[in-house]
Amino acid sequence: MEGVIEMAGEKPSSTWYHVNDGFFYTVTSRDKTRVYLRCYRKKTCKSRASMPVNPQERNKETFRVLTKHSHDPDFLQEKLVSLKRSILKRCAEEVTPFLTIWNEETARIDSQLMSELSGRLTLNSLRSSMYRARTAGQPNTPKD
Ligand SMILES: [Zn+2]
Repeated sequence: MEGVIEMAGEKPSSTWYHVNDGFFYTVTSRDKTRVYLRCYRKKTCKSRASMPVNPQERNKETFRVLTKHSHDPDFLQEKLVSLKRSILKRCAEEVTPFLTIWNEETARIDSQLMSELSGRLTLNSLRSSMYRARTAGQPNTPKD
């Protein structure tokens, strides 16, 4: 696929950009012509990139990686983030028990893919985020 893809990032209001190569970036600043980005793994990776301000001009040629990544591309990241977001969204909006939400959302995913994701995302690892989402979304609802 050509072009720069914009997607919902891991944090609730964050936006990530990528060119389908397994690396993901957040915006740090912009000037008149370029938007400056850095790798979402900013704690361990110093990679930076830039792209044109005008979305029409964004493509693989004008998207420039300025500093190399310190890690391999991650082709599961997009799926992982979208699964996480759909689970946390339901926790915020519904009173459905966490286990039910987890089971229903993971059942939508191809089982081969889910077995690859399960090493990186489990109900236990997500539970505290689920509590936070529910508390933020529904401050007065009893928690399960
Ligand atoms: Zn990186």
